[in-house]
Amino acid sequence: MQAIAVEQGRGRPAIRERERPDPAAGEVLVRTLRVGVDGTDHEVIAGTHGEFPAHEEYLVLGHEAVGVVEDGGSTRFSAGDVVVPTVRRPPPGEENGYFERGEPDMAPAGQYLERGIVGAHGYMAEYFVTDAAFLLEVPPSLADVGFLVEPLSIAVKAVELATASRSSFTWHPESAAVLGNGSLGLLTLAYLKRVKGYDRLYCVGRRDRPDPTIDIIEELGATYVDSRETPVSEIPDAHEPVDLVFEATGYAKHAFEAIDALAPNGVGALLGVPEPWEFEVDGGRLHREMVLHNKALVGSVNSRARHFEASAEALSAFPGWFFDRLVTGICGLDDLAAAFDDDDTTIKTAVQFSEY
Ligand code: NDP
Ligand code: ZN
Repeated sequence: MQAIAVEQGRGRPAIRERERPDPAAGEVLVRTLRVGVDGTDHEVIAGTHGEFPAHEEYLVLGHEAVGVVEDGGSTRFSAGDVVVPTVRRPPPGEENGYFERGEPDMAPAGQYLERGIVGAHGYMAEYFVTDAAFLLEVPPSLADVGFLVEPLSIAVKAVELATASRSSFTWHPESAAVLGNGSLGLLTLAYLKRVKGYDRLYCVGRRDRPDPTIDIIEELGATYVDSRETPVSEIPDAHEPVDLVFEATGYAKHAFEAIDALAPNGVGALLGVPEPWEFEVDGGRLHREMVLHNKALVGSVNSRARHFEASAEALSAFPGWFFDRLVTGICGLDDLAAAFDDDDTTIKTAVQFSEY
């Protein structure tokens, strides 16, 4: 079967022949439908993030998959079920409380592998096998866009973690600023609007009009903020202080600017993964601002089964036009370059391995 992998030192994805895997006891064989591409894949390809599997000179890419069960073996799955796999797996042969408790997203580095990212092959292959414990059944209506379940689950978890930090008092958030108009930012914007009931939403980018992401932001009823004109710290003056900031740019200054963008008692969720960058901030003023106004910042990475479930449910509530505009390319194996394009007309792409 064909798979898409990056070889050590190559810096570009290529098709590779691999044997179709055989499921062991407790495992499910899945025929892959579509696998999404995101910024993490680009970082893995460039070699700035992730790890190759032990003793392998290549890594099969892909962590955002949707597929159909080909062989459910003795598990609870049956042939024909539409399924989405989670990403983290326990390193072999060790007791691991995080996985035993069903909280793999809270495991520190070294206590997890990530399929397609850290030390384990991903889902960009015509078939993959996985332990049934790491597979979620989704409605057949998600066969086309189920590759968005994983990325949206990241937002679901971060919003949950941020909200939990406000659980000691009566918090009724009404406004939010999503920093970043990439696929994570836009999915989050739709989630906050359609599912979480935020009234007033802002989405920060750094692009000129016309731009397809600005069209989506405005169609969702949110306000586009150009960070070149209105820095994040000036959102309160230009618009209003917001209850929630959701950072999805990976632009390190935004972590600090978010503190000024927040209303008293507000919370900022940080999701970007910046490279090291030294710059000046007024640490004393920001520290004081957080303390005197009960503000919080929480970092959030990855997600677990219940976030996948909530994500699948949320996607089912998104309007059809949103997917038509967000997904700018579904590419076959004969058109790999397009799947990994990263220009301003590309928002979200996926590789199609088979038809539902
Ligand atoms: P993208 O690269 O697609 O999106 C980032 C967006 O932020 C781009 O649209 C970019 O604009 C915009 N941006 C960057 N800097 C600025 C700035 N200074 N002002 C305004 N806009 C800016 O990435 P994703 O949407 O896939 O992911 C977002 C971030 O989240 C990344 O850092 C990624 O690594 C991280 N991530 C974190 C996860 C987690 O579990 N914590 C999981 C998945 C992703 P432009 O395109 O115009 O440059
Ligand atoms: Zn992803």
